[in-house]
Amino acid sequence: MGTVIMEKENTQQIYSVEADSYDCIGCAIAKGELTPPGGSIYESRNIVLAADPEVPIPGFLIITGRRHVNSFSMLYKEEWMEIGEVISKAERAIKNLGLAQEITLVQEERSKHFHIWIFPTKDWMIEKFGRGVSCLRDISRYAMENATGSAWEEVEEAVREIRAEFYKGNYEY
Ligand SMILES: [Zn+2]
Repeated sequence: MGTVIMEKENTQQIYSVEADSYDCIGCAIAKGELTPPGGSIYESRNIVLAADPEVPIPGFLIITGRRHVNSFSMLYKEEWMEIGEVISKAERAIKNLGLAQEITLVQEERSKHFHIWIFPTKDWMIEKFGRGVSCLRDISRYAMENATGSAWEEVEEAVREIRAEFYKGNYEY
């Protein structure tokens, strides 16, 4: 697991190390014990939308359920309906900001706490690894191992931009 230290004035935030230290990272995010990079983008009683706390890729977001369940089939209608709306808004924000032309969504039931990856496809990923779900592990490992000192600052900046775009609220459904 890669370690990236971001120095900000006198504080050091070590997102990936902190993320490793919880029994259930989903519960840590859901309960507010782990503050994601740049803070959450959107929160409700059902879900949290935020940047991934382990892989420093600007625009790589995670929707985390509040409840410790592992499957879409265990969600209440209110939860999955809200998830659909939030995915739609998040994808549009990422694309409007030019953070990705294409998104890959991933939800794995083998993970004990429900979450969905909203993974942005960027030109460098296609050049180095290709496209699609089979490439995500290699891309994530590469991003952690090759992160520069400003990697988490770039993630936080993307979070600020996505949050502003997300709350413009001029989307039609
Ligand atoms: Zn959990």
